[in-house]
Amino acid sequence: MANTTEQTEQPICCSESTLGTEEFVHFETLALHAGASPDPVTGALLPPIYQTTTYRQEAVGVHKGFTYSRAGNPTVAALERRLAALEGAPYATCYATGLAATTALCLALLEAGDRVIVSQVVYGGTVRLLQQFFARFGVRADFVDTSDLGALKAALREPARLVFIETPANPTLKLTDIEAAANLAHAAGALLVVDNTLLTPALQRPFEFGADIVLHSTTKFIEGHNATVGGALIVRDKELHERFEYTRTATGTIQAPFTAWLTLQGVKTLPLRMERHSENALRVARFLEKHPRIKRLIYPGLESFPQYELARRQQKSGGALIAFEVEGGTEAGIRLMNSVRLCALAENLGAAETLVTHPASMTHWSVPSDQREAAGITDGLVRLSVGLENPEDIIADLDRALRQ
Ligand SMILES: *Cc1c(COP(=O)(O)O)cnc(C)c1O
Repeated sequence: MANTTEQTEQPICCSESTLGTEEFVHFETLALHAGASPDPVTGALLPPIYQTTTYRQEAVGVHKGFTYSRAGNPTVAALERRLAALEGAPYATCYATGLAATTALCLALLEAGDRVIVSQVVYGGTVRLLQQFFARFGVRADFVDTSDLGALKAALREPARLVFIETPANPTLKLTDIEAAANLAHAAGALLVVDNTLLTPALQRPFEFGADIVLHSTTKFIEGHNATVGGALIVRDKELHERFEYTRTATGTIQAPFTAWLTLQGVKTLPLRMERHSENALRVARFLEKHPRIKRLIYPGLESFPQYELARRQQKSGGALIAFEVEGGTEAGIRLMNSVRLCALAENLGAAETLVTHPASMTHWSVPSDQREAAGITDGLVRLSVGLENPEDIIADLDRALRQ
């Protein structure tokens, strides 16, 4: 189970779960119990929200592991232990947002002159951060179709510090073979970072395939209720973890305790939610695949998915996201999105509610259009994040909207 830095004594509340680590190791159990046990003082079942800036020290240099909430907070630490346990790694740091986690990753590991290889299709904000901000400090990002291992291998002929992949990629859902990417990255002396936001450890565990760093926007499925923004970096290596902690303290990107507390509640149902998201998405995908108004449908849980074998190998199920193009191009796509009533047109994914997005005008507007087209994010592409409603209702809503 998760454990934080060895040199700091853990405080009583929000202390590491008292569950026997050998006995209770199943994912569903860890989602509920890892990282926090009932408050020994009051018996409160839920860990408290430690809404405090600072911590009284017993003597100079003698404290319970917390000094100032920019460096660490007990509620945030409880979430860190839980997320680490769920990914099957010892260390995690949590951040104000997913992009704050990406920022911390880059600030901790990159210097001017360094090169990063990034999946061609990644979250739009990741592209903007690298191209518009880190580029100014001399960090070069090369966007490569990492679903093509030959292309990744070729890109690694030039030195790179990091290989940053998102699989499935948002929003085209192309997969990258994590194990093969890890082997190629390691052979070239690079670290493999996996943005695991879209599947979460409930459906995909990148460390089992050799990843070095797992990144999350906890804003999405992990918290799961559209109530917070947050991020996390999870690692197996202690030295890397210490660098992230130091960077977070020095740059001030830590998560707020209330966010951590809400996320601790949301993550309890992660295994149940992800299973249902996948079941619902499969039902909706099967319906849309046969629909006369759908031109192209992409869902990793369908046999028709080009990388179906890889999906079966590295993910537990297809996940919540479906991408499709409607017959009639951009106009028809926009008509559909403006006609849905149950599905919400929204710039997000990974919520309990079904959300529909037009990546070209919403999430990926900041990616230059030629780069977007090259990556397969066509102007008519629609992304559906299938929620936890009854799938019959989602299907009825889409069917009616498609017939408008
Ligand atoms: C949303 C998202 C991010 C960024 O997270 P924020 O919490 O919005 O900053 C990063 N990666 C992926 C895959 C995302 O979906």
